[in-house]
Formats: sequence, structure tokens, C-alpha cells
Amino acid sequence: LIQLYMPLNFLGTLYREMTQGLVDIETMFDLLDQNPEIVDRPDARPLQVREGTIRFDDVHFHYDADRPILKGISFEVPAGRTVAIVGPSGAGKSTISRILFRFYDITGGSVTIDGHDIRDVAQESLRHAIGMVPQDTVLFNDTIYYNIAYGRPSASRDEVEAAARLAQIDGFIAHLPEGFETEVGERGLKLSGGEKQRVAIARTILKSPPILILDEATSALDTHTEKEIQTALGAVSRGRTALVIAHRLSTIIDADEIIVLEKGRIVEKGTHHVLLARGGVYAGMWNRQREAAEAAERLKETVEGD
Ligand code: ADP
Ligand code: MG
Repeated sequence: LIQLYMPLNFLGTLYREMTQGLVDIETMFDLLDQNPEIVDRPDARPLQVREGTIRFDDVHFHYDADRPILKGISFEVPAGRTVAIVGPSGAGKSTISRILFRFYDITGGSVTIDGHDIRDVAQESLRHAIGMVPQDTVLFNDTIYYNIAYGRPSASRDEVEAAARLAQIDGFIAHLPEGFETEVGERGLKLSGGEKQRVAIARTILKSPPILILDEATSALDTHTEKEIQTALGAVSRGRTALVIAHRLSTIIDADEIIVLEKGRIVEKGTHHVLLARGGVYAGMWNRQREAAEAAERLKETVEGD
């Protein structure tokens, strides 16, 4: 009922920010508490994640009825495993992450966690079980400490600082005028895309949820920082179920399974080595990225050699 009392101008602002991609899903949920179209069933029970197995079964979804986005997606992320989703921009990768977070309800098929349809569980418990590092992080207009501690408000100062270290944002914070107490966000110090990603990663490390969604979580970082954070993310995802959406394929070669999504359909599935050997879509993407990286490397050598 709460959304009925929400001031309309607030909803207007929120809608504008959402459509401009300025508010990420977790923030969005926090601001609005829930997507008004998505309501708990009267008999909704809290989700108790025992193992953390995720299953998509013949999932269909559209934002607008005349334009299907997901056209029969089936896959499983076994408990404690990492599954990566790759594919061209617009394929529907982020949509899959939004559906798992139940930002939208699907139009066909089912999504379950440990066998429980996510439409049958209390949304708060679902969001509590999932940690998401979204494609674009929006910070709260508060201190950087608050923004990290938000992942687990009961965390101690030491735990918040440890999470910042693991996310490699501690050095940056140490150089801020007021350290952890520096105000950030739109009304405070504006952080770069890579710095915001690291805050989101620190927040998720602190939250330490049984299920992780990383949506191009390190895409705004340079390759060096990305490698270091990858190590930290590897540590948080160990023993947890992780769905990783990746742009740079070099970051997901160790995934237990890689799903190649194109125009809302799964076109290939397998491990890195199996997909490379197959010489299909994935192998093509891999070769293009490798050639681009090599060309960049040669260019760098030429410039530095002069
Ligand atoms: P990816 O993450 O693979 O780049 P997305 O899942 O973000 O792709 O988007 C899949 C398709 O859905 C795109 O064509 C995109 O334009 C469309 N889309 C995404 N969000 C919305 C929305 N809120 N309303 C309508 N269409 C959307
Ligand atoms: Mg995306």
C-alpha cells in the first residue's frame, strides 16, 4: 500500500532517472521499496536459500508486448558455481539479471531458486539473498562510508575498511579530504565510473550474499585494476552461486559454464575451451577481442618506442 501514499512528483523524478539509466536496480528498490507492479502474494514466504541453485526454465519476457526480448531461455546455475553470460549489446543480458532480482515478472516459463518460484517468495528476502553489482552504480548522497556500509549496516568499522581494501578503493579514500567521511554522490564529490564500480563491489563484499550477480561489474576499470579486483570478486564468489555478465571475455574463462546470448536466445553453451574448439560465435568474439588487444599493445609499443 505504501506506494499509494508516495508523492507523485517523487515518482516522476524517479521515473525520469530510471529511464535515463541514472538509478540502478538496488537503489531503485530502496527508494521505492518495490516495483509497484510487482507485489508479494498474500501467502508469500521468506526465501531460505539452502543451496542457491538458480534455474531459468523456458523464460519468455518483453517490456513492450510487440517486442519480445527473451525468447525461451533455459539454463541452470548449480549451487556454488559460476555461470557467465556473454553476447552483443542489446541481447538481453541485463534483462536476465533484472528478472532474477524480480524487478520484472516474466511473461512465460519460470525462474526458481532452490526449487522455489521467485514469484512465490517475499521480495525483501529475495533481495536480501542476492548481491548485485550493476552496470551503472548510483551512489547515495551521503558519505563514502555510508555508501559501502549500506551493504550490511550492522558491519563494524573494521569490516567496512576491509571491504574497501578488497575492492581496491582504500587508497583512493585515503587521499580524500575527509577520508571515509567525504560526502559523495550528485551533491558531493563525483566519482568516476571505475570508482563507483569499486564502491559497489565493496558494498557487495560486505553484504556477502549467497547469490551474486555481476553485470559488467569491472567494465569501467583499466585492465590492471580489473585483474586485481577480479581476484577479490573470485574470493567473494567462492562457494557462492554467481551469474556473471561479462564484456571482456578474458575475465570469465574460468567460469563453470558460458552462455552466449544473441537476440534473446541462447545460441551456444559450454566451457571456454569447448566453445573455442567449436569455432562458432564465442570463438569469433574471442578472436576479435584478442586481435583488438594485440593491436592496442602494438600501438602502445610504437608510441613508447618513439
Ligand atoms: P544487454 O544487457 O544484453 O546489452 P538489455 O537486457 O539491457 O541488453 O536490453 C535488451 C533489450 O531490451 C534492448 O533492446 C533494450 O533496448 C531493451 N530494453 C532494456 N530495458 C528496457 C526498458 N526498460 N523498456 C523497454 N525496453 C528495454
Ligand atoms: Mg547490459
